[in-house]
Amino acid sequence: MAEQTESESRKLLGRLREAMAGTSAGQARLDSIVRLIASSMETEVCSIYLFRDAETLELCATEGLNPEAVHITRMRLGEGLVGRVAKTGRVINTADAPSAPGFRFMPETGEEIYASFLGVPIRRLGEKLGVLVVQSKNGRAYSEDEIYALEVVAMVLAEMTELGAFLSDNAAMGARHQHAAMFKGAVGQEGVAQGHVWLHEPRVVVTNPIADDPHAEATRLTDAVDQLRISVNDMLSDADLGDKDHRDVLEAYRMFANSRSWMRRMQEDIARGLSAEAAVEKEQSAARARMEEVGDTYLRERLSDLDDLSNRLLRILTGQGSETGAEMPENPILVARNIGPGELLDYGRKLKGVVLEQGSVGSHAAIVARAWAIPLVIHAEKITTEALNGDPIIIDGDQGNVHLRPAENVVTAFRDKIAMQAEAQTRYAGLRDKPATSKCGKTIELTMNAGLIADLPSLEPSGAEGVGLFRTELQFLVRSRVPRRGEVAALYARVMDAAQGKRVVFRTLDIGSDKVLPYMKREEEPNPALGWRAIRVGLDKPGVMRMQLQALIRAANGRPLSIMFPFVAQFDEYRAARTHLLDEIERERRLGHVVPEDLEIGAMLETPSLAFAPRQFFEMTDFISIGGNDLKQFFFAADRENERVRRRYDVLNVSFLTFLEHIISRCAETGTRVSYCGEDAGRPIEALCFAAMGLRSLSMRPASIGPVKHLIRRVSLDDAKQVIDEARVSGAQSVRGHVMEWLRTLK
Ligand code: PEP
Ligand code: MG
Repeated sequence: MAEQTESESRKLLGRLREAMAGTSAGQARLDSIVRLIASSMETEVCSIYLFRDAETLELCATEGLNPEAVHITRMRLGEGLVGRVAKTGRVINTADAPSAPGFRFMPETGEEIYASFLGVPIRRLGEKLGVLVVQSKNGRAYSEDEIYALEVVAMVLAEMTELGAFLSDNAAMGARHQHAAMFKGAVGQEGVAQGHVWLHEPRVVVTNPIADDPHAEATRLTDAVDQLRISVNDMLSDADLGDKDHRDVLEAYRMFANSRSWMRRMQEDIARGLSAEAAVEKEQSAARARMEEVGDTYLRERLSDLDDLSNRLLRILTGQGSETGAEMPENPILVARNIGPGELLDYGRKLKGVVLEQGSVGSHAAIVARAWAIPLVIHAEKITTEALNGDPIIIDGDQGNVHLRPAENVVTAFRDKIAMQAEAQTRYAGLRDKPATSKCGKTIELTMNAGLIADLPSLEPSGAEGVGLFRTELQFLVRSRVPRRGEVAALYARVMDAAQGKRVVFRTLDIGSDKVLPYMKREEEPNPALGWRAIRVGLDKPGVMRMQLQALIRAANGRPLSIMFPFVAQFDEYRAARTHLLDEIERERRLGHVVPEDLEIGAMLETPSLAFAPRQFFEMTDFISIGGNDLKQFFFAADRENERVRRRYDVLNVSFLTFLEHIISRCAETGTRVSYCGEDAGRPIEALCFAAMGLRSLSMRPASIGPVKHLIRRVSLDDAKQVIDEARVSGAQSVRGHVMEWLRTLK
C-alpha cells in the first residue's frame, strides 16, 4: 500500500476526530463528517444511512444528494443498493449503479445522475448499524485502496455511534443501549425474575478509535500480541494433561496469535490512522460477519476462536474486563453467549436468572440453573450486543422472553406475576409436612435432585424426603485437577451431615457427553452422548471410580449408604461396577475403617436395553432409578441437547408410557424399588401420570416438590390411570390432551 494513501487516510481520520471533538450536536456532526469524506475522497456524494428500526434504514446525512431528503428517504432492509449492503454486510462497488441489480430510484434524492456507487456496511461486532455511501458522476469503480479507506472510516463511525456521538431526537440517531428491547428466546427453566444485567464477558468499549501516532500504536499492538502469545503458551503448557479438544482450541489460539496475515491487517489499519484497539475490533467484526455466513462447523469454530482471542487482546489493550473491583449489581441476572456448568457454578447462588444466546435445555449448565430454581432463557439472540452491565432486566422463563430495560407498564405487569409466584410458594410451603397422598390413598415419595452442597439447605423447606439423585460430577467439573480422595470424602460427609439421616442416593461420576472434565484426556468422538461416558469410563479406567467409592465409604463412616451407577446398558456392566464397590468395602474393612452398616446398590436405567436385561439383573439391584433425560433421548432417538428435536416427542407419548409400564412391572416381579429422577418428574402433569402408571417415588428439583405434591393431593391416581388408559386405546399419540381435559373438569 502506498505511503501516500496511508497518510491521506490518516489525515481524513484526524479531521474526523476533530469533527467529533467539537461541541456540535449529533446532526451537525454527521453533516460535517459527510462533507469531510466527500472532499477527502473527491467524490460528489457521501451519505450516511442508519437503522431506524431493525428493518428500516434512514438517510441521516448527505453531501451531494438533495438535503431535503434527509430523514425522509427510507428503505427496507434488502431494498435498493443501500438496503442490500445492509442486509448482506458486503461492500457494493459499481461504476454503473442504475444498471446494478436491485437499484432503486429515489426521486427525492436526485441521485440518478450519479453513475458510480460504493457502499460499505457500518457495523460493530456483528451488529448492523447502517451504511456509508460515496457516489460520483463519472462512471468509475472505486479502487481497493478507496474501499479500504472507507471501511476504516465506517469502523470509526460504528465506534462513535456506540459511544453516542450522534445522539439526537431522531429515531435513527437515538441513544443506543437505552431503549427497551424484548428478546424472544426459548424456555430453559420456568419462573420469572427481575434484576440487573451481569455480563459473563463484559463488553470492551473502545473510546479512542483514532490515533495520531501510528508508530506508538503499532508498538502497543505488538506488545499486547506478545503478551497474548505468552498467555496462550502458558495455557498450553498448563493444559498438557488436558483433553484433546481443549488443546485443539488452544492450538488454534496459538495459530491465530502467531498469524502474520492477522497481524499485517491490523498493522495496516493502524497505518491508516486507527488505534490498536480499533484495529483489533475491525478484524473481530469482520470475523463475526463471516461467522454468520459460513455453514461449515469447523470454520465457524475457528472464527469463534478468533473472536475469543480478539476479546483477550482487547482486554490486554484496554485493561477492561479484568478489573477485580467490578461490583455485581443487586439481583444479578447473568447474560452470556453460552456458559459451561463449571463457570456457572463459579457464580454461586447469588444469580437470580440466566439468559443465554445459545445453550440448550438438556445441558448441564441448564441443570445447574434448574437446581438453583432460577429462570433460564436460552436462544435470546444478540442480547449480549445490546445489554450493558447494570441494565434493568426482567426474565420470563415461562414464555422464554427477556425484557431488557423494560417500560413501566411491563414492570407493573410482571410485578403482579412475581407476586403471584411468591403467593404460590407460600401455599406450597403450607404443604411441606404433609404427604403426597392422592385422593385414592396412594402415597408417593418425593425426593430432590442435588449436586452441590449448596443444594442441601433446600431439603428442609422443600419438604423433600431425601435426595433421590446426588450428581457427583458437578464437584469434579468445577476444578482444574482431579480432586483428592480426602476432599471428596469431606464433601460427601458434609452432604450426609446436612441430610440429617435422610437417605441420599449418590450417583457415581457421570462424565463424558456434555460433561467434560477440563483435566481429563478425551478422545474425539463422533457422538459423545453415545460414546465413552459414565460407567463406561468408570469400568475401563477404574482409578477415579474406585477413589470415589472409597471416599463414599469413608464419608458414611458406618452410616447407611446408597450408591447407584449411571448409564448402565447391560447386566455385566452393573455386575462389574457392583464388584468394584464390594471389593472396596472389603479393602476398607481390611484397612480397619468402619464400613456402612446398611449398603444399597442401584443402577440408573437410562438406556432402553436395560429394561430387557435378564431377571438376575433386577434381583441383584436394590433399586433402580429411571434417568428419564437420557432414557427419553435414546427411546425416541432425539438428542436432549438439540433444540430442533428435543421437544418433538412428548414424554407422555403412549409408547413411552407403555415402556415405563414395562419397566415398572419388571421391577415389581423382583420387588426392586423403582423411582424416576429425570427432569420430567418435576413437572406436575408428568409427575401425576408417572404416579398413575405405578411409580411410587419421584426425584426432582426442590422447587418442584410443592407444585407436584399440590396436584397429587388433589386427584385420584386410579381415575388418572383410567383416563390415561382411555387415551392409550383411543389412538392418541400422547395422553396429555386427555389428562388436561380431565383435570379441567375437576374442581
Ligand atoms: C437423566 O438422564 O435423567 C439423569 C437424571 O441424569 P443426567 O441428567 O445427569 O444425565
Ligand atoms: Mg443421565
